[in-house]
Amino acid sequence: MRAFTYNALPIRVVFGAGSLDRLGEEIERLGAHRALVLSTPEQRASAEDVARRIGARAAGIYDKAVMHTPIETAEAARRVATELEADCCVAIGGGSTTGLGKAIALTSALPILAIPTTFAGSEMTPIQGITADGVKKTVRDLRMLPKTVIYDPTLLLTLPARIAGPSGMNAVAHSVEALYAQEANPITSLMAQESIRALAQSLPIVVREPQNLDARGEALYGAWLAGIALATVGMALHHKLCHTLGGTFNLPHAETHTIVLPHATRYNASAAPEAMARIARALGASDAAAGLYDLAKAIGAPLALKQIGMPEAGLERAADLAVTNPYWNPQPLERGAIRALLQAAWEGRRP
Ligand code: NAD
Repeated sequence: MRAFTYNALPIRVVFGAGSLDRLGEEIERLGAHRALVLSTPEQRASAEDVARRIGARAAGIYDKAVMHTPIETAEAARRVATELEADCCVAIGGGSTTGLGKAIALTSALPILAIPTTFAGSEMTPIQGITADGVKKTVRDLRMLPKTVIYDPTLLLTLPARIAGPSGMNAVAHSVEALYAQEANPITSLMAQESIRALAQSLPIVVREPQNLDARGEALYGAWLAGIALATVGMALHHKLCHTLGGTFNLPHAETHTIVLPHATRYNASAAPEAMARIARALGASDAAAGLYDLAKAIGAPLALKQIGMPEAGLERAADLAVTNPYWNPQPLERGAIRALLQAAWEGRRP
């Protein structure tokens, strides 16, 4: 076996249906007395439920979380945390809400207790994308890593299928890239492969059966593993492309990941045969890239960039941006081939 480095993450995880009932004791365990509860405006009722459960240890609610964490939102939330003399953030929601908690923690080092309600996987990472002047920049800092995560599948019962499916594919994307990452190691790869298996088996059931709790638990477990994979090894072409498309063309995050993933996988296929074999095995498919496309189709997710607002005229610029900042990828970056990849993703062709 070749030499490798593996960094374990110091996060306490409480998993299972009904685990939100343990919130009070988990807050106590963190030693928090003035928790600031975060959510999106749409999930205000969930934030109020959390504040009720915490009782006297809740300092207030801030419900302005939005996608891609604009710097103005981050600064407003930081001011509220200071004014309320918060000593902890409780983030209930998807990656956008967890991201707002991270923005506060980055400058204050307040501990985060995350309660994920999508499959984004952000709660397992010390990574954050903050958007300023239309550009999304990624920061990595251990202060942003949540101290405690409560995974309660019952919270996913309200997640609409059209958000749940792409959100799960976002998690699959973390695991796919972890398998061919430059820092890939046997431990992360085990988790990544198991994560793809769990998500591929459960997501079609999640979107088909709105009340199926077991499938939601299985998908949440897959998302948890995917988050660890994202946090412990570097990402490559796929995440960089999605970052560029999302930041520059303001495309929806999870849908962009869903559409680009089969094409980025095809791009890397011949350079990473071992990873491809593991991905295909986890999907129960004969080919990794086609299997990912078929999974996206099976869960009713969008399959073409043109469906989610990407202008065809922007593909040249996207290809330029993708090759401007060189980064590691198993298959060397070649502008013509990336332009072709983007065209196929724009049209929604099966790779
Ligand atoms: P999101 O957090 O923006 O949520 C999408 C919508 O679904 C919101 O309106 C939200 O209120 C609603 N919602 C969430 N859970 C719900 C539930 N259970 N029931 C009903 N409605 C619910 O979407 P997301 O895909 O989870 O997160 C995307 C953001 O997360 C992006 O900004 C992305 O950059 C970030 N992200 C970061 C990381 C990381 O490690 N830093 C990883 C993945 C995603």
